[in-house]
Amino acid sequence: MKIRIRGLRLGLDSTEADIKAEAAKTLMVQPKFIQNFHIVKKAVDARRKKVYFSYSVEVELSNAVMLPKNVLNNIDVSLVKSEPEQVLTPGSVKMPWSPLIIGMGPSGLFCALFLARHGYRPVVIEQGMDVDTREQKVEAFWNGGKLDVLSNTQFGEGGAGSFSDGKLTARSNDARVEYVLRALADFGAPEEITWLKKPHVGTDVIRQVVKAIRKEIIRLGGEVWFGAQLTDIDIQQGVLRRVEINGQTQVEVSAAVLAVGHSARNVYRMLHQKGVTMTPKAFAVGVRLEHPQEVIDYMQYGEFAGHPALGPADYNFTYQDRATGRSAYTFCMCPGGRVIAAASEEGLLAVNGMSYAKRDSGVANSAVVVTVTPDDWDDEVLGGVDYQEELEEKAFVAGGSNYHAPAQYLKDFMERDASSSLEGCIATYRPGLTPANMWKLLPKEIAEVLYRGLQSWGKKAPEFLDEDAVMTGIETRTSAPLRIQRDAERVSVNLRRLYPCGEGAGYAGGIVSAAVDGIKTAEKIISTYARPDKRLEIQDKNAIQASTLK
Ligand SMILES: Cc1cc2nc3c(=O)[nH]c(=O)nc-3n(C[C@H](O)[C@H](O)[C@H](O)COP(=O)(O)OP(=O)(O)OC[C@H]3O[C@@H](n4cnc5c(N)ncnc54)[C@H](O)[C@@H]3O)c2cc1C
Repeated sequence: MKIRIRGLRLGLDSTEADIKAEAAKTLMVQPKFIQNFHIVKKAVDARRKKVYFSYSVEVELSNAVMLPKNVLNNIDVSLVKSEPEQVLTPGSVKMPWSPLIIGMGPSGLFCALFLARHGYRPVVIEQGMDVDTREQKVEAFWNGGKLDVLSNTQFGEGGAGSFSDGKLTARSNDARVEYVLRALADFGAPEEITWLKKPHVGTDVIRQVVKAIRKEIIRLGGEVWFGAQLTDIDIQQGVLRRVEINGQTQVEVSAAVLAVGHSARNVYRMLHQKGVTMTPKAFAVGVRLEHPQEVIDYMQYGEFAGHPALGPADYNFTYQDRATGRSAYTFCMCPGGRVIAAASEEGLLAVNGMSYAKRDSGVANSAVVVTVTPDDWDDEVLGGVDYQEELEEKAFVAGGSNYHAPAQYLKDFMERDASSSLEGCIATYRPGLTPANMWKLLPKEIAEVLYRGLQSWGKKAPEFLDEDAVMTGIETRTSAPLRIQRDAERVSVNLRRLYPCGEGAGYAGGIVSAAVDGIKTAEKIISTYARPDKRLEIQDKNAIQASTLK
């Protein structure tokens, strides 16, 4: 009999023996009768003046002891019921070719892994390069070299997730979240991600994990093609018949999963031109804000700041602006991280945040953004894409047209003054910064809401308006600016055989939710189609620069 105990609060220096003792106390038994003890959740509880760890654990009791009856009246104690494993039965629709997955971010990767594990031998095409080649290209760009528009922080093996903070938080209780975390741990992430409330792996670890998953897909009979860009689609009577790769070769399609992410603007435009149903959606724009990490640690943990068991602190602020109906909020907070050049097109500039596993840069960053809605672009399907591009172009020019980012001290923004010099500031962005005024870069109403949000957060936590804090612009890629409409079977509402999936299609917002969306899509393909007769063949292999990697 497995028992789960929630809400065990212990001090920061507590050991496993202490947690066990606390669990035994809650169950009113002696610690020696506790067997098979393991932690299922650990969170930092800093709501009160004192900082604790809060644990949920699962235990079994030895046969020598009975659980006192009234213990189960405690709402923090429950019996763990074992759910019967769900078996997915393949469907009956004939599938001449194995499924094609377009895009190898978390949604495409997990869709492919799930299909491969069920014998569907998926073929993945990814416009960017494998993660090692990609790493070299990104580093060169950050050091002032040329931007590669196909292999950058957004594009290439692992998608936007590879150059990220690697936070693996998910808001949903879907059992597939566990599947994703289990798989990530099995392919090289630390085991603790399966039980920490706010799991984090860092860009360095996630890149290795992605590579290991690719090898597994290939081992199970799938294929992965890098340097293979979807450039066109052939539709006949509302059915997707073929896709074109690199403008040169066509492949027949039985089912195609479109998992291209929210920065695939050329794909959005191509689909719109072909009449695929899409609707505009809200997202958010703003800046990255950096603080010395010790300021954030003190703001969150007070006298406990710097305790070795805690690690660098994060934060989360929201503000509802009554005057405009917009919200301001912090997003994608990266403790001990760095701000990165996240452009994927020439002449456009975007910033984002990432961190390494150790989170040891000494600088905390977060997006601080304000919502924008289809009303801001007259409800046009591609209006949000144009809106992002206009801001990114403005930021590129304000930075000096060389991918240096426009930046400003927070204190100057609050005074509505441009920063004159950023010499010696804490900002981590490469290749460089140009002093600027965000009041000129952001649309006026957005800057005003951002200002009022910051003011309100500064009242709650004065440290947040720290005089060393620096803003870097511009943050535009917070989520997809449109949604590719799909039905209950996850197929495009007006293009049969096309499965829009993940963040770019408007159905996810983060690594884990994108991966879960990929799995759900794979499940639909499996329950609809019988296992494929043949693996999808790419005839003209010369049309693809990179060969399959083993
Ligand atoms: C810097 C940064 C930090 C982030 N940090 C976090 C974090 O800590 N935690 C978190 O949960 N989320 C984070 N995110 C968000 C997260 O990375 C995304 O939500 C997630 O990657 C979306 O997954 P996806 O598979 O839907 O799309 P993507 O990851 O965007 O992948 C899409 C892939 O499709 C490919 N593609 C596009 N067009 C084509 C085409 N025509 N042909 C072939 N391939 C194509 C792209 O090259 C890309 O590799 C971060 C994002 C960024 C940019």
